[in-house]
Amino acid sequence: MGIFLQEDNQINTNNITIQKNDVSREMRGNIIGKFKGFRGCTLWLTGLSGAGKTSIAFNLENYLVKLGIPAYSLDGDNMRSGLNKNLTFSKEDRQENIRRSAEVAKLFSDSGHITICSFVSPFSEDRSLARKIHQDVGLKFFEIFINASLDVCESRDVKGLYEKARNGTIKSFTGIGQNYQVPIDPDLILDTEQQTLDESTITLVKFLEGKKIIPNTPECRVEIRNNLFFNNQQTKL
Ligand code: ADP
Repeated sequence: MGIFLQEDNQINTNNITIQKNDVSREMRGNIIGKFKGFRGCTLWLTGLSGAGKTSIAFNLENYLVKLGIPAYSLDGDNMRSGLNKNLTFSKEDRQENIRRSAEVAKLFSDSGHITICSFVSPFSEDRSLARKIHQDVGLKFFEIFINASLDVCESRDVKGLYEKARNGTIKSFTGIGQNYQVPIDPDLILDTEQQTLDESTITLVKFLEGKKIIPNTPECRVEIRNNLFFNNQQTKL
């Protein structure tokens, strides 16, 4: 048995041994998805509420899965309605929210999925921890800053949360009661004030091609271009 409570109720992890799966990443990569090869990695979309994280994540996930590339989108609200439902929006609980979410992303990524995370994740320190959690086990992690000004996000007010934050119903709302620390050195910036949703998604697709996460053999590139359907319209790369 691994974890047990000591007399002082502290969790003792001394007797924990990390078990290494017999199945390698290479073996997984060869049996899942349409194109052979391990593509597990995490795309960490960070930005203000309403910046466009979920829209881009779902658009990209839809595109990748239709193409036969394993992908899964982990959304902040979904994490908070299940695994993290006992956490508040205090600084400490936000930290724990990100730590747990990053651990889940790590497992998805290790299983061979392109894992697309949409989390406001306002603090640099927490995002660095998410990166470390992946890099410590040799998984690629990309921080993607979804950039839109507070004014624009507030005018979009997709979920009516800014209104609630302004009238005091919600406390500690990122951008109003609480700070958002802009990423200093993100792997990619998507400016959703300058681009449409499809353009942002295509920028991300090209980024993944450049990083060799999405296969870019001539046959695949043709297939990728032929399959680019967003919002029921075909969009050219
Ligand atoms: P978040 O997940 O960051 O809170 P959402 O994706 O829920 O944001 O909402 C963003 C809103 O902004 C949506 O209504 C979306 O249609 C709109 N939007 C406008 N331009 C873009 C873009 N380039 N990328 C993503 N969303 C955009």
